[in-house]
Amino acid sequence: MFTEKRPRCTRCGARTGLARVSPVQSIELRIYECPSCGQTDCYEVSPVPDRDWILLTGERLARIIAALKNKDGAP
Ligand SMILES: [Zn+2]
Repeated sequence: MFTEKRPRCTRCGARTGLARVSPVQSIELRIYECPSCGQTDCYEVSPVPDRDWILLTGERLARIIAALKNKDGAP
């Protein structure tokens, strides 16, 4: 069973809303958008239930976004 959770915005601390879930490169990527400030936070959700989600930043985020775009752009 999976418990839904809504992490707080990393910029302003407001509750974010789930924008989309995208499995990419064998990980589950969750993208949350903040309704207050427009910040977008991407989390890598571990398949192991006890592990915390990983907030994606910097180079790792850029790599995954690029992979996502490649997948979306594919015919
Ligand atoms: Zn915010």
